[in-house]
Amino acid sequence: MRELYDIIPDRERVLLESIPEAALTDSLGRCRGTAEALVYPLSTEEVSAVMRFAWERRIPVTPRGAGTNVVGSTVPAGGIVLDLSRMNRILEIDAETFTATVEPGVVLKDFQTEVESLGLFYPPDPGEKTATLGGNISTNAGGMRAVKYGVTRDYVRGLTVVLANGDVVELGSKNVKDASGLDLKQLIIGSEGTLAVITRCLLRLVGKPQASLTALIPFASLKDGIRTVPAVLKSGLQPTAVEFVERSVVELGERFTGLRYPCPEAEAYILVTLDGSAEDIDGRVELLHDLSARQGALDFFPIRDAARTEEVWRVRGCLVKAVEATSEQEPVDIVVPIDKITDFVVHVHKVEKETGVQMVAFGHAGDGNVHLCVLRGSRSAEEWKTDLAASLGQVYAEAFRLGGITSGEHGIGLYKRPFYLSHTPEINLTLQRRIKETLDERHILNDHKSYLR
Ligand SMILES: Cc1cc2nc3c(=O)[nH]c(=O)nc-3n(C[C@H](O)[C@H](O)[C@H](O)COP(=O)(O)OP(=O)(O)OC[C@H]3O[C@@H](n4cnc5c(N)ncnc54)[C@H](O)[C@@H]3O)c2cc1C
Repeated sequence: MRELYDIIPDRERVLLESIPEAALTDSLGRCRGTAEALVYPLSTEEVSAVMRFAWERRIPVTPRGAGTNVVGSTVPAGGIVLDLSRMNRILEIDAETFTATVEPGVVLKDFQTEVESLGLFYPPDPGEKTATLGGNISTNAGGMRAVKYGVTRDYVRGLTVVLANGDVVELGSKNVKDASGLDLKQLIIGSEGTLAVITRCLLRLVGKPQASLTALIPFASLKDGIRTVPAVLKSGLQPTAVEFVERSVVELGERFTGLRYPCPEAEAYILVTLDGSAEDIDGRVELLHDLSARQGALDFFPIRDAARTEEVWRVRGCLVKAVEATSEQEPVDIVVPIDKITDFVVHVHKVEKETGVQMVAFGHAGDGNVHLCVLRGSRSAEEWKTDLAASLGQVYAEAFRLGGITSGEHGIGLYKRPFYLSHTPEINLTLQRRIKETLDERHILNDHKSYLR
C-alpha cells in the first residue's frame, strides 16, 4: 500500500494507519469492516491512478461519500476506502442550459443553497442534507418531493466515471433529449459503488418555484387519510409532497421536539405541500380543503407562516432521530403500490402485536414508500437477532405479496440483501452480475453488496 504515496504524495490524504473508525462503517455503525488504506483523491486523474493500482493487485476498493447510508454499503472488506468527500467543488452553474457541473463530494445542502440563490432549483430532497451528490446518485436518493419532481435519477444528465481498471469514461451530455445508443449512465445511478467511481456529475436544474405551502390534514383513521391520497393525485393539484404519519408516531416527534400538532384526537395526519406561483397557490389550497372535507378530514390547517411550517416539518423530519433517542433501530424503506399502504401498515401492526417488536411506520404516501423503524428496546443481542429476523421476514413477505419491493431510496447495501436476493428472479440477478463482470471482472469495486453474492 505504501506505493499509494507515489500516486498521492500528500500523507494527509493517504492514511495507512490510524484509519478513523467512522470510515469503516455506515451512519448507524452496526457493522465495522477493515481497510489497509484510506485515500482522499482530489481529481479524476488521482482516482484513475488509484483504481489502476488496485486493479493490477486485485485490491478491494470501497467508494465513500459522506457515509450517511443506513444499509452498510460503505462497510469495507479490506483494501482501500476511497473517500470522495474532498472533491467538493461546484464547477459550473449554467443558467442557460439549466445544468450544473459538480464534483461528487459536494454536499447536497450546500448545492441546494447555491442553486436557489441564483433563482434555480434542484428538486431531489432526501432527508439527510449532509450527504454528497455522488452518494445521492449512487443510491438514487429519493425524498419527499419525489411525488411531483421524481428522484435523483431524473436529474442526472451526465457523469464522468472511473472504471475498476482505471479507465475514464464520459457518459451523457447537456442535451435534453438523447436517443443515441444505450444510456449507460443509468446503470451507474443507484449502483451503490459496485460498477464505477463517479468523479464528476452533470445535473439538471429547473426554475425555482415562487412559493410553497404545507397543509396539515387530520383524519379519524389512517385508512381515511390514505384514501384521500389518490383523490389528491387525480385532482390536478400536483402536490410536491404527500406524507402520512400516525398519531402515535407524531407523539414521538412531539416529545422529541417539544412541539405540538393540532387535533390530537386524530389517528393519522396527511401532510401536503403545494408549490408554484404565489397567485396560484391560494386557489389550489382551497381546492385541497374542499377535497379533504369530502374525504372526511377532521379539520384542515394550511400553514402560512414560515416558522410554523418549519416546526410542522421538524416533527415529521425528526422521527428517525426521535426513535434512536429511545432505542437502537433497524430502518426499513419498503415500497408498496400506493393503494396498498393501509393494508401494509395494518399488517405491520398485526406483526407488532404477535411478536412484541415495536415498529414505527410513517412515510411518503404519494409514492408508497413506507419507512419503518424496528425498535430493539431492551433485548439482548441474541434476542434482538431472532426477533428482528422473525418480524422483518413477515413484513417483507407481506410487502412482496402486495406487489412491493425491498427499497425505495436507501438501497440494498449489506442489510437488505437477504430480502432483495430472495425476492428477485434469478434471471434479473444473473443479468446484473453479467453487467458487473463487464465493468469489473475482477470484482474489486464494493463487491458482496447489493445484488452481488
Ligand atoms: C437521518 C437520515 C435520513 C435519511 N433520509 C433519506 C431520504 O429521505 N432519502 C434517501 O434516499 N436517503 C436517505 N438517507 C440515506 C442517505 O443519506 C442516502 O443514501 C445518501 O444518498 C447517501 O449519500 P452519502 O454521500 O452519505 O453516500 P455514502 O453513504 O458514503 O455511500 C452510499 C453508497 O454510494 C457509494 N458511493 C458514494 N459516493 C460514490 C461515488 N462518488 N462513486 C461511486 N460510488 C459512490 C458508496 O460506495 C455506497 O455504496 C437518510 C440517512 C439518514 C442518516
